[in-house]
Amino acid sequence: MFSSVLIANRGEIACRIARTAKRLGMRTIAVYSAADAHALHRRLCDEAHFIGPAEPRESYLSIERLIEVAKRAGAECVHPGYGFLSESGEFAEACVKAGLVFVGPPAAAIRAMGLKDRAKALMQKAGVPTVPGYHGDRQDAKFLKEKADVISYPVLIKPAAGGGGRGLRRVDHAADFEAALEGAVREVGAAFGSGRVLIEKYIAAPRHIEIQVFADSHGNTIHLGERDCSLQRRHQKVIEETPAPGMTESLRAKMGAAAVEAARAVGYVGAGTIEFVADGTKGLRADGFWFIEMNTRLQVEHPVTEAVTGLDLVAWQFHVAAGEKLPLTQSQIRFDGHAIEARVYAEDPESGFLPSTGTIVELALPSDIRVETGVEAGGEVTPFYDPMIAKLIAHASSRDAAIDRLTNAIDRTLVAGVRSNVAFLGALCRAPAFREGDVDTSFIDRNLATLGAVPHGPDYAAAALGVAHLLGDGTARAAAPEAEGSGEEISPWAARDGFQLGGSRSIAVPIVVDGENADATVTYGASGVDIAVGGKAPATDARVFARGEEVYVLRHGRQTRVRLQDLSVAVAEGGAGDGVVKAPMHGRVLELFVQKGASVAGGQQLAVIEAMKMEHTLRAPFAGIVAEVAVGAGAQVVEGAPIMVIERADAG
Ligand code: ADP
Repeated sequence: MFSSVLIANRGEIACRIARTAKRLGMRTIAVYSAADAHALHRRLCDEAHFIGPAEPRESYLSIERLIEVAKRAGAECVHPGYGFLSESGEFAEACVKAGLVFVGPPAAAIRAMGLKDRAKALMQKAGVPTVPGYHGDRQDAKFLKEKADVISYPVLIKPAAGGGGRGLRRVDHAADFEAALEGAVREVGAAFGSGRVLIEKYIAAPRHIEIQVFADSHGNTIHLGERDCSLQRRHQKVIEETPAPGMTESLRAKMGAAAVEAARAVGYVGAGTIEFVADGTKGLRADGFWFIEMNTRLQVEHPVTEAVTGLDLVAWQFHVAAGEKLPLTQSQIRFDGHAIEARVYAEDPESGFLPSTGTIVELALPSDIRVETGVEAGGEVTPFYDPMIAKLIAHASSRDAAIDRLTNAIDRTLVAGVRSNVAFLGALCRAPAFREGDVDTSFIDRNLATLGAVPHGPDYAAAALGVAHLLGDGTARAAAPEAEGSGEEISPWAARDGFQLGGSRSIAVPIVVDGENADATVTYGASGVDIAVGGKAPATDARVFARGEEVYVLRHGRQTRVRLQDLSVAVAEGGAGDGVVKAPMHGRVLELFVQKGASVAGGQQLAVIEAMKMEHTLRAPFAGIVAEVAVGAGAQVVEGAPIMVIERADAG
């Protein structure tokens, strides 16, 4: 076994790898960027080396710097984790060249599976079932459209060099094909530097079933069963479980054999995952699954496999990388019970699951189930890296019991400061169809409203509790025993106008609730002080967390942010008019579609902003003239920065 490892990653996966590496007696070497100076992973490791600025390109993606640090620190091997350089053939090669062992497959296997079109062709040759479609070299729009017509709609346009669901476009009608292709090529070209796409039949009611494979350098390849990752938003996984609902032993053996075949076809060594899409309309069937891609690395969701097999996959990775044989043979692999994982993200389900950046003011995670995390209270979710906060993994004897355990853990999870998907995860775990195992990849999209993933009105009762806290009211404290002090207390009686009403005195206190102006009504009567917002009294089933002049009120997993209005700021904001199109998040302006002076229709695309591996289209709030364009293409913008001003067409 190795005596030291450089972990070329950050966050929860760096912490996860460090844990096993330590158990195996290795000296753990962390790397960190400027944004991670206080990150958990750097403190968990035996030593930590600074590798550059926050931008991944100059730190976690810099092969040169990582190799330099690995050599300087005397690392024997390099574990890439997932994401970043984990699927870079160039990095694997650079490690080997520098005399370091890369804890992953050979560069050739990474490259063979790196492009979806090439991988599909290889799999076809190896006899692995693939989704019907076109994955050849010709890329002109007319030709691809003809192919799509023959494949018949719905089809899926897929970037050959894609990942993370980016650039995927489902096309339902021939008439929409060209526009979708254009969008996909633009997004893919910007993200991956190559606009090559493939066209696939869109599988009805698709279920995402993947097989964990493991191979050693002595010719042994086995599988560790499946994971069902059908619960996705934006084509990205949220909940993963094993066994897949409806899986039989014989089908597992068949899918497992196909996956092993796929791995063998590329001379695979190490941990890998073969992803299949299955037709969910008639349940899982032996003739109803098709290869979509191979991930040549450890997956985010590997803990569910660890839970049911009782194995440590990271330890296996080290053993295999050290040239040892796989510790077990296929027939020795046992599957025990049911395991399920939920990913807690800093994101806002109410606005399209947009990542939410900022400070994690408070974080409480359950301690009676497995939790993987890389952040702590007081830490930042930056726009530079994946916004995942934690993974919660529940294991029990049955699917029902595992989901119950997970739901209970989610209910005890608390994230304040950044927005999170905690309430959404709770709703998902309680959804009857999910409990029945009746899900496919569009389940979430179909059920956004029932899952609470649509814009809600402000939670006035929560806001009222926040105001009570900000005004230093004793009753609010009583309702929220865990609340911290809010710093300076502001007396509502000091400066603002009041009026008398039936013997009691009421004043309107201007506040800001989730960025919108509102008024709190503070009434002083015979029985004491009453506070209301939107006619609602302070909630009694919520918790308040203060930070600076703002409070975060958490009620049923949903966050409401409240502060007292700073009137000078309010006037300035109001003065800009309501035609100001702002950046919804920190990011980069990818493209501007209109110039100053252009007339635009309501809803027309104005610009595309890219952030956290996601594109967000800005649209005109109403018909009008572009009065101002505040930024150029390529500019980095902060959340809330004005991008354009639209003047109403009928403004005169
Ligand atoms: P990426 O590498 O960008 O994640 P994938 O090829 O893995 O792209 O596909 C992402 C998701 O889209 C999959 O998890 C699956 O749910 C869905 N998907 C992929 N191919 C198909 C298809 N042909 N039909 C239906 N759904 C698909």
